[in-house]
Amino acid sequence: MRAAIVKAGPVWNNFHTHTYRCNHAEGDVSDYAKKASGLGMTKLGISEHAYVPGTEDDPFLLNRRDVPEYVNACRRADGKYGDLKVFCGVECDYDPSDESFFREFYQEEMGMDYLVGSVHGLKGRLDVMNCFSNRHFGAKELRIYTDLYVKLIESRIFTFCAHPDLFGRPVGIGEDPKNWDANAAGAAKEILEAAEANGSVLEINVSGVWKALTKGYPVIIYPRREFWEMAADYDIRVIVNSDAHSLERLDAYADYGLDLVSEFGLKRVELG
Ligand SMILES: [Zn+2]
Ligand SMILES: [Zn+2]
Repeated sequence: MRAAIVKAGPVWNNFHTHTYRCNHAEGDVSDYAKKASGLGMTKLGISEHAYVPGTEDDPFLLNRRDVPEYVNACRRADGKYGDLKVFCGVECDYDPSDESFFREFYQEEMGMDYLVGSVHGLKGRLDVMNCFSNRHFGAKELRIYTDLYVKLIESRIFTFCAHPDLFGRPVGIGEDPKNWDANAAGAAKEILEAAEANGSVLEINVSGVWKALTKGYPVIIYPRREFWEMAADYDIRVIVNSDAHSLERLDAYADYGLDLVSEFGLKRVELG
């Protein structure tokens, strides 16, 4: 079953969730489903970090051996907790050379409901420049990021495109939070134009709020207000997710993302 994109209702549901299988998150599908149901959610999307050929043994990705069991865990939880519908997906580190693998293996062979597209590393999955590392994006890094993110959008294989504004984070603790400059605005423009042209859904990922408030960052790392303010001028759709890596983060700071949606009059969707 491939998940459709539908207009979001009054209930907020999360479609970006990680489990213990990536070794940097806690909890299993059933734990999240139980909690989601208790919180009044009607849908839950699980999106573990996907391995690709060449990264089979990367401890921070879903291990190749665990994929069938992971899908089963999602299917078992579907409909088991009240009326909660559980969707099974993966978060894919985008590289153009992996497009067919994402589609053919995860979606067609394993029957997953959706694919999430992300850029975490600058030149693709094997690059060492990680977007989460404490380094400021210079113009060169920003150019690589933007080109990769636009390609991700143009592939049209992803149900939603995760944290497009990750490039705009004021990266180092204590670093000047006002580092949104003309280059950053230019990158946002290119990404938003591509999203509009390709009918994409962009994710407002509130895990940056959690990181800022628990790890002592002086400002919200992401979502970047400047990016979503610009998004108001484009015909795009957005989804608000927590990117939960633990049960306590399942619904943490969702209101922050929902407030951006209201403030900038964005069109919110979800999976259906
Ligand atoms: Zn991510
Ligand atoms: Zn994630």
